[in-house]
Amino acid sequence: MNVRDSEHMIAQLNKEENYNLTNNPKDADLILINTCSVRERPVQKLFSEIGQFNKQKKKDAKIGVCGCTASHLGDEIIKRAPYVDFVLGARNVSKITQVLNQKRAVEVDINYDESNYTFGDFRTSPYKASINISIGCDKQCSFCIVPHTRGEEISIPPDLIVNEAKKAAKSGAKEIFLLGQNVNNYGKNFSKSEKKIDFSDLLEMISEIDQVKRVRFTSPHPLHMDDKFLNVFAKNPKICKSMHMPLQSGSSEILKQMKRGYTKEWFLNRAKKLRELVPNVRISTDIIVGFPGESEEDFKQTLEVIKEVKFDQIFSFKYSPRPLTKAATFENQVDPNIASQRLKKLQDLHTAMIDEIVENEIGKVYEVYFDEVKSDGFIAGRSDNNYMILTKATESLLGKILPVKITQARRTALYADLL
Ligand code: SAH
Repeated sequence: MNVRDSEHMIAQLNKEENYNLTNNPKDADLILINTCSVRERPVQKLFSEIGQFNKQKKKDAKIGVCGCTASHLGDEIIKRAPYVDFVLGARNVSKITQVLNQKRAVEVDINYDESNYTFGDFRTSPYKASINISIGCDKQCSFCIVPHTRGEEISIPPDLIVNEAKKAAKSGAKEIFLLGQNVNNYGKNFSKSEKKIDFSDLLEMISEIDQVKRVRFTSPHPLHMDDKFLNVFAKNPKICKSMHMPLQSGSSEILKQMKRGYTKEWFLNRAKKLRELVPNVRISTDIIVGFPGESEEDFKQTLEVIKEVKFDQIFSFKYSPRPLTKAATFENQVDPNIASQRLKKLQDLHTAMIDEIVENEIGKVYEVYFDEVKSDGFIAGRSDNNYMILTKATESLLGKILPVKITQARRTALYADLL
């Protein structure tokens, strides 16, 4: 989502100002730092990083701090780092050209409505297009700062999304990646009166575009994985068969404290149904260990769910108390050393599972959409079910969808020969 926000800012700057991109901070007239604040560490890194940029930059170059940390710290950033020229919140990226030309502007309004805003065109990859379908988040997960930095959830009108997808597809993007904090809640809160459509309908609409060959999305919420959604996901051949199902915890009691809105049983039921409907689906998840009050027994239940669902990929995090969140005020915080031990145990278990899963991929045939040049003469792409697959080839492969046979399996990528 931050990558897409950066693309929006660049598009806006291209439209209204005269900037080119550079990777060298010493050459830059404007340095934008787009930040995350989901966990504490990136926030700590921010101030040392701005300090570094301040030392390297040209004399008159401006520095702007953007994104979620900008939203939640606001003018405190300029107080702590007075050489910062402006602060621009995650929900205000369309205002980049305004704040740029004001002195010490702080624009962090989380009620600002960007849902009808048509951004200019700028995409990092010509092969894939990310498109925002909603802004903000209405969930009240007790650990999560996002609703406080991105504001309430609003859905972007479907005609804007479809037009953006058509335009991207026409210019060569065969894959559309739909983005939102909570994509399968789409359509609940349109800012204007719109025809009622839900996420499943939107997926079907995007798939109808001829030049679009693949549709992906993130992040869906397990609570909203109803039968309609799972059936559309299973039956529509353009929808890529990889699903992110952020579990967070395998203990129903902890899930209740987290305010996730589902139980362990609901989650297991949805994952089972998904695997039945789509046998080749790959399921990824997010897990937090050491949430306040998590006992050994709760943690054991998380490990059990991991074994039962056989997740294909896990993003696991040590709980990080965040300002403005309910859970940060809970008194039963878990000892960080115990949380670290649990994290390691979880990751070791999953690494062993992954080794077994990928070993079984050798000899299989996949359709790969090639979109990236790697080192040593490899071209990379993704299978429909989201394996990264590398093959020795020339750049002429880029932008093509071709069948390959898997020859070697690593934890993070598969190697293959073209068929
Ligand atoms: N709306 C997205 C959340 C994006 S944040 C979703 O539901 O998938 C990505 C992940 O960061 C979350 O799923 C969660 O596992 C993790 N996370 C969020 N807040 C956290 C915190 N306070 N400490 C540790 N991990 C956290």
